[in-house]
Amino acid sequence: MEIHVFTIFPDMFTGPLNTSILKRAQEQQMVMFHLVDFRCYSPSKHKNVDDSPFGGGVGMVLKPEPVYYAVEATLGDLHDYNGKILLMSPQGKQFDQKMARELAQEERLAIICGHYEGFDERIRALADEEISIGDYVLTGGEIPALVVIDAVCRLLPGVLGESESPLTDSFYNGLLEYPQYTRPREFRGLTVPETLLSGNHEEIRKWRRKEALRRTWLRRSELLKTLKLSAEDKRFLSQIRAEEEEKNNS
Ligand code: SAM
Repeated sequence: MEIHVFTIFPDMFTGPLNTSILKRAQEQQMVMFHLVDFRCYSPSKHKNVDDSPFGGGVGMVLKPEPVYYAVEATLGDLHDYNGKILLMSPQGKQFDQKMARELAQEERLAIICGHYEGFDERIRALADEEISIGDYVLTGGEIPALVVIDAVCRLLPGVLGESESPLTDSFYNGLLEYPQYTRPREFRGLTVPETLLSGNHEEIRKWRRKEALRRTWLRRSELLKTLKLSAEDKRFLSQIRAEEEEKNNS
C-alpha cells in the first residue's frame, strides 16, 4: 500500500512511522509512506498556509491553495487517482475497525491533515471521505492520521507475524477480546484459569469464546445486537447472564 500524508508538520510522523510494526512494514515493502509538507506548495512569498476567516471570528483557517496544489502536484489528475483521499476532521464519520478493514483493501490512501481553527470549506471537495477518530477536538489532523495509518497497516496481509494475528483482536470479529494471561501461573495470589493450562484446545476455544462474549456483554452490550450469534453463542450468553446474576446477588 502507498500512503501519502499532506501535513504542515511532517516531523510529527517520524517517530511513529519508524517504530515497531510500521517500521517493519516499510522495511518489508508492504507499505510506503510519502510525507508531503503542503506549506511548500503555498503560492505566497512567505509560504503562508492560513488566513483569518471571512465574516470575522477567532482563529485562523487553512487556505485552499496550498492543499489543492500539494495534492494535485503529488497525486496528479485526481480523476485518475485510484486510491481514497481522506480528510481528518472531528465532523467526519467515526473511524472504527470496519472502516479500517475497508481501507486496508485499497492500494493507495492519501490523508489530509487540518490544523488551526479548521480548513476552508472548499478543501472538503478534495476528499472521498471525512474521518473523525472520536468526539473530541485535537490540535491537528496528524495524530488522527497516525491512528488511521496504524489501524489500517496492521491489517495488511503479512504485516503482522503469525504470532501477532489481528484475528483475535477486539472488534475484528465484532467482539471484545477474551482475557489473556501469560507466565507466571500465579501472581500475588491471582491465578490463571485452569482451562488455559489444560492443553485441551477445544476447551480453550470454548472458554475464549465464552469470555469474549462475557466481556462484550458486560462492557459493550450494543455490539452484540449486530453480531450473528451461533447456537453455542446463545447458550454461552444465557449461562453468562445466570452466572453474572448469581455473582451480583452473592
Ligand atoms: N474548528 C474545527 C471544528 O470544530 O470542526 C476543529 C479544528 S481542529 C483544532 C484542527 C484539525 O485537527 C482539524 O481540521 C482536523 O484535521 C484535526 N482534528 C481535530 N480533532 C479531530 C478528530 N477528532 N478527528 C479527526 N481529526 C481531528
